[in-house]
Amino acid sequence: MENENAKRIMSMLHARSGSLENGESISPPIVTTAKYALAGTPDTPYTYGRDINPTVEAAEAAISALEEAPVVAFPSGMAAITAALMACVKAGDRVLVPSDGYYVTRVMLEEILAGHDIHFDAIPTKTFANVDLSPYAVVWCETPSNPGLDLCSIRSIAESAQAIGAKTIVDNTTLTPLLQRPLDLGADMVVSSDTKAMSGHSDCLFGHVATRDQTLLAKVIKWRKVSGSIADPFAAFLLHRGLMTLELRLERMCASATALVDRIEGHAALETIKYPGIGFVVGLTFATEAKAETFINDCPAIFASTSFGGIHTSAERRARWGDDVPAGFVRLSVGCEPTAELLRAIEASLAAL
Ligand code: PLP
Repeated sequence: MENENAKRIMSMLHARSGSLENGESISPPIVTTAKYALAGTPDTPYTYGRDINPTVEAAEAAISALEEAPVVAFPSGMAAITAALMACVKAGDRVLVPSDGYYVTRVMLEEILAGHDIHFDAIPTKTFANVDLSPYAVVWCETPSNPGLDLCSIRSIAESAQAIGAKTIVDNTTLTPLLQRPLDLGADMVVSSDTKAMSGHSDCLFGHVATRDQTLLAKVIKWRKVSGSIADPFAAFLLHRGLMTLELRLERMCASATALVDRIEGHAALETIKYPGIGFVVGLTFATEAKAETFINDCPAIFASTSFGGIHTSAERRARWGDDVPAGFVRLSVGCEPTAELLRAIEASLAAL
């Protein structure tokens, strides 16, 4: 994986340099236009801003190098999730989703798509292996699940789904294509909230769909065009800029997360600690909501905020959004701060509880 990743990272970093003429900018220009010069028959690649944009294309090319698949960019992770669902479901279909995964995907199914005769079942990620997939047109996985951090085998789920003609879609937000590549494991489609680690600086919303299936790809592109969900060029620029350091950021974030887990495993201030052994998100369960809030708010190295994957270590109690986790459960997203300083600050805050 490491060698393969190195090749993909090189090709991402040099996605632009290969075709640059002397005098062209190294970073992608931010092209803010609603329309392009278009006389006569519209047979040029650039026609209208809702269909295509060169800055968005530069972001897509960079993500595509990591996914080794065609990529369609969206203005947020939820816009990508909606596009993926719309490409794969029709009236009368059923979708299997994780009950412990990102909750807005379930809200989309329950409050929007149910009204269009598309239905779903939600079960815990760790039980996906035991379930009969035959009622489903789409099996939606998130592993590690967010926020519970449970795992399932993409390879065996995709195999079983394929055998009954169902599509497997994986929300790969928590790991990114550098840590897990669902398409290589048999998934039909990947979706990602690039608002998180992919952009990495908590300064833009972005999302993408990746698929090697040309029929699904065409449907996703069509959905983006007719629903009007093209990404903004400025956000695409920020995503592109952030992506260039993804590997470096992940290296620090994952190393710090592992070191932190080693240091605080079994700590008296914690009921449990959950870490899937990969990535930068750690689940900490405190005895009470009050203790969890004190930890989040008093630790000087932690930003109290929602979301994850940014350069700053951040944390929140997920029960505040209604996730099915204990009131004292904290999702900690380890950032890029110097490891020793970060661990010192977190340990001091745990000791003070
Ligand atoms: N998927 C996961 C796993 C997420 O955590 C999130 C956001 O928190 C999303 C999708 C939605 O992404 P966005 O907020 O960019 O729409």
